[in-house]
Parts: sequence; structure tokens; C-alpha cells
Amino acid sequence: MTVLDLDEAVGAMTAELVGLRREFHRIPELGFEEHKTSALIAEKLRALGLEPQTGVAGTGVVALIEGAHPGRTLLLRADIDGLPVDERSEVEYRSTHPNKMHACGHDSHIAMLLGAARVLIDRKHEMHGNAKLVFQPAEEGPGGAQPMIEAGVMENPHVDAAIGCHIWNNLPTGQIGVREGPILASTDQVEIVIEGSGGHGAQPQRAADAVVAAAHVVTALQTIVSRNTSPLESAVVTIGTMNGGYRHNIIADRIVMTGTVRTFDEELWRQVPGHIERIVQGVCAALGVQGTVEYTRGYPTTTNDPDMTALVREAAVAELGEEAVVYPEKTMGGEDMSYFLRAVPGCFFFVGSHNAAKGATHPHHHPSFDLDEDALPYGVRTLVASTLKYLAG
Ligand SMILES: [Zn+2]
Ligand SMILES: [Zn+2]
Repeated sequence: MTVLDLDEAVGAMTAELVGLRREFHRIPELGFEEHKTSALIAEKLRALGLEPQTGVAGTGVVALIEGAHPGRTLLLRADIDGLPVDERSEVEYRSTHPNKMHACGHDSHIAMLLGAARVLIDRKHEMHGNAKLVFQPAEEGPGGAQPMIEAGVMENPHVDAAIGCHIWNNLPTGQIGVREGPILASTDQVEIVIEGSGGHGAQPQRAADAVVAAAHVVTALQTIVSRNTSPLESAVVTIGTMNGGYRHNIIADRIVMTGTVRTFDEELWRQVPGHIERIVQGVCAALGVQGTVEYTRGYPTTTNDPDMTALVREAAVAELGEEAVVYPEKTMGGEDMSYFLRAVPGCFFFVGSHNAAKGATHPHHHPSFDLDEDALPYGVRTLVASTLKYLAG
């Protein structure tokens, strides 16, 4: 591999990357409402001489950097949405939108992809094929990746592989986390309704108590992880809400529960809804109440392709050095990058941004979340080095 001297190219634009990130940080918008954000992205792309396509699946933006030589097309993805969080921070670049905040760091994803675009445009002569820049709405929900795929983003030109990254406060600044296989979990939702028959709290023999049945259901659901899942696998079944009842001396006739289910393994992902149905029906039958389950699939597991992961790792090691590239822990969080990675082989990597000295210690989604902006050049260099390696011809 040739020496990319990206250190210099990206180093020169560090102030610009920070400026970009802060510009987007000030105007966070929720999923599919990213109108200001996508207009600003399009403006920045036009300033780079590109011709962005806007309004893709609502608020998505796509731009193509064509290499000097024919070849494959690599999709580079950044998500662009913020969260319904009120920013608890006094930084001068804090959110100007009440109750909205870039609390997951997607502002930095936009900045890093714009930075990568700038460097790639300068190196088009080395590219055998194209870099397709995809700025995707609504990652935090309801999901913009699948709508963008349906809008045709994988064609014209046909996409052969995909990469993307997430700024990551679980790793220190200067580290890039690269790992093959499942890296983020599937994120399904479940709603369980238990219907019994109400009555006087003092006469349980004349009622069918939905509260007692719900308690048994929640307890029995724990056996999905402890008894139906291989000890070598991971899964989460969390019941997060339980609502129902009227008063302390009335037996409840109806309880509604909601929860989240997370898995890495595809087989387990397919099996869990059946386990839930079996447990709910069995427990409810035993206790003389009715149970109904509504299971909603969320994002599938985000799974990195071994070859693309090896390419990103090699590119990052060549660019940043062996010690900068680490093997990160998987996380039970979810990502709709998963849809791109199901469509084509690809790699989603983490860009460490934890720095205690700068107060960049809070977890993602926290109202005091902030990231170490010194991380931005590491992300840009990994994106660019991986792209140039993939399109080396
Ligand atoms: Zn998030
Ligand atoms: Zn995120």
C-alpha cells in the first residue's frame, strides 16, 4: 500500500472539521425532519463541486465522487438525525433547538463524511470506481436506511460494498474499533396484553387477576435468556413498561406491557417471538386469563463482512499505526446501518472519542453528552484510507 500522507491532508482541515461539527450540532432535528440539516449538507457538497441529490427518502442526501478510472462503487454512510433530549451544556455551540440535541454524535458523522469527501475529491485520480456519499435520516427512529434503499440508493451506479462509522465514547480518542461479525444487536419491540376479569380486591375467587398473571409472565420471560439461549450467545429480553389497574382494592382486568428484545444471532432472532408467544399463552392458560402478543421487528443485527472488515483494519493500521486499531466489544445497541450491510458486504467501525480531560465522558444519549473533537481526523483518515484501498484497482 502506498503511503497516503493523509496525516497532512486531514491535519490541515482539522479546524474545518470542528467548525462543521459545531455548525450541525447547533441545529439538531429529529428523524425525517432534518430539513435544515440536509439543506446545509447539500450546500457544503455543492461548495465542494459535487451535485447532490436531495429529498431522497424525505430528508436524505446522496452525492457521487467519480474516480478517474472505471471500477466498483463504495457507499459511505453518515446518519444525520438528533434526539429528543434537552442539552444540558454551556458550550457555545450548544443546541439552539429546544428539546433537541445531537446526543448520539451524528453531527460528527456528517462532519467526518464531508471531510472525507473533500480529501477524496483531491485524490480522484487514484480511484478506480466511485465513492457514493449517503447522508441518511432517522437512524434513531423510525429508520431511514431501509427507505433510502427502497428509494434506489444502491443503484445508479450499483453499490458493491458499504462502510460507515460511529463516534464512540466507549473508546479513547485516537483508537479505531474494528471487529468482524455481529457488532450491534437487533432491536425488536414487543407488546403483551393480559386480559382477565376484574372484581373486588377482597374477593379474588370471583375474578381472574391480570396483575398476578402479568407478574408470572414477566418472570417466565426471563427463561428465554437463561434457558432457551445458548450460554455462549447473548440476548436481552427487557419488559420496560407495565400498565393497568385502577385502585389498591380493585382486581385489575387488563395489563399492558411493552419491552425490547435484542440478539446478535440470526437463528435466535428468528426464534424469540415464538418463545414469547409460547410463554404468554402457556402462563395465561394456566391462570385463566387471555394473553395477546404483538411482536414488531426493529433493526436487524449489524454484521460486518470479514473481507471488508479486514480491508478497513489494514487501511486503518497502515494509516494510523497498529496501536490505534483495537478490537472493540460488541454492543446491545442497534443501528440501521444493518440494512446496508445486509444488502452488500461492508464494515461499520467505531471512532473513539472518550477524553476525561475534556469532559467527553458521558454515554451516548445523555443530556451532557459531548465528544472529543480531536477524534474527527482519525475517523476521516480511516474513511479515506479504506475508500482508497477499496478503489485501488
Ligand atoms: Zn443513538
Ligand atoms: Zn447513533
